[in-house]
Order: sequence, then structure tokens, then C-alpha cells
Amino acid sequence: MANLIKFLNPETTKHALDKKVTIDFPRGYPGMSGAGEECLRKRQYEHHFCEKGEINARTQRIFSVGHLFENILNNELKELGYEMFGEQSNLTLLDGRLLGHNDGTIRGIPEAPGTIHVLEIKTMNDKSFKDTEKKGVAKSKPGYMIQMQLYMQSMKLDRALFIAINKNDCNYYIERVYKDKNIIDEVLNKTIDVFESKILLTRLSEKRSFYKCSWCNYKDICFDSAPIEKTCRSCIASNFIKGNTWHCWKNKEDMDRDKQIECCDEHQLMEAFKNNGTK
Ligand code: SF4
Repeated sequence: MANLIKFLNPETTKHALDKKVTIDFPRGYPGMSGAGEECLRKRQYEHHFCEKGEINARTQRIFSVGHLFENILNNELKELGYEMFGEQSNLTLLDGRLLGHNDGTIRGIPEAPGTIHVLEIKTMNDKSFKDTEKKGVAKSKPGYMIQMQLYMQSMKLDRALFIAINKNDCNYYIERVYKDKNIIDEVLNKTIDVFESKILLTRLSEKRSFYKCSWCNYKDICFDSAPIEKTCRSCIASNFIKGNTWHCWKNKEDMDRDKQIECCDEHQLMEAFKNNGTK
């Protein structure tokens, strides 16, 4: 009971640490890290800025902890004498429409000393780590597999080194990943659909109660026709160019993210979102 009172009292350290919440639109540029999202409908909603998302203090902390673990591992790899080339933030595919930045590249590992590998590091909780260890990255974390495939394609490399870190006991799971042209072609074709489709793409599930849908930020828009945010990205006059840039053919101008969010009075909703309307 005492703890509960402390938690409810805004004059506590716990409250001060936990109160930071960011509510905003997605970052705006389509990234290789998100290309493995199974639900194409969800990717569309994100691409068209249909809803803002929330990042709370705990989530931000989880990201920070991930970076700490990555630094420790990077230092260990350097101490072993492997060549590390650092992260690259300018990876592109689909004529600059799909962007990425990797954790780095590595050369000199004992399994293939002369081969440069894309390096991908992920931190996981115990349950998730054990599942990855048991099934391998392709089956356990297909999104990470797709991310590495896209990095390899963009960097013209054929191998990746995947390292998962167990946050509970600091154990490592390591797997060499081979480039797979079939995976790359499939995900790039789906990504083009997300960018260009004028109609709504297939849902991951037709059941709102499906566990992945129940976690989805867009479930009310998807299943209950809840209204979407009004931005240039859902207007018939806008076209996606690349990165964060969209073009308005009515006003004849390129628009950055701020301009897209600002929107204008001429907004005309895309047919795909007619059942929802705007807020
Ligand atoms: S609610 Fe389910 S089907 Fe709809 S966008 Fe989200 S994940 Fe996809």
C-alpha cells in the first residue's frame, strides 16, 4: 500500500523519472529496420501519418540500455583485434526511398577472416533470447533477418554477423547470415506496394482480437474506422519522393516533415481513408 501511495504522488522521484512521454508522428522516412513489419496495412498507416505514437520514459530507457550493451560488445570485438568500420547512416535502396543505418561492419572473424560482414547487434530479454538461440534468427526474428538482408543488398556485401545479447545474463548468441536474393526481392516488392498503393493493403489478421492486432497502435483506425490525423500525407495531391520529402502537385512544392504536418486548407482525403475521415 505504501508503494502505491508513493507511485500516485506526483511529488516523488519515481514520478519525476517516469513522467516524460513523447507523443509524435513517426520519424517520417521509411527505414530498413521497419521493412520486416508483417502487416502491410500497418506500414501504410505509418507511411501516411494516420496516427501519432507514444514513447514513454521506460521505452526510452530500454533504447539507452541497448546502446550501453552495444558499446560493451563493440569494445570487446575491438580488443580481439577485429577490424570494425563503424556505423553507416546513408544506406539507401529503391532510388533513395528506403533508408537505413547499420551498427557497422566487421572483418577478421575466425570463421571467415577475409570477409567483410554487416554487423547487427540486438539486445533481448531472456525469453526472446532463448527463442532466438533455439530457432535461429530467420525463424525467431524474421524482421531482423530482413533488416540484415537489406543492409547487405545496399552495401553490396554477402554476409552478416548477427549478435544477440541477453540482457538478463549478458550471454551472446552469434550467427553468420547469408545473403538471400529471394527475401530481398520479396520485401522490396512489398515496400513498393506500401509506397504506391492507392487502396488499403492486406491486413495481418481479420480479427481485431488477434494478439498482434491488440497491441497495434492503429487498431481503432483499422477495425473501427476511427478518424485519422489530417496531414499532407493522406491528401490526394501529395506524392512520396524520398526520405522525408513529399511533393504537393497542387501547390507545386516539395514538403519536409514539418510542412506535411502543418497541412493546408485544400486537404482532400485519399480514397483509401474515406471510411475513416480525419480528426
Ligand atoms: S490492427 Fe492488425 S491488421 Fe490492423 S494495422 Fe494493426 S496489425 Fe495490421
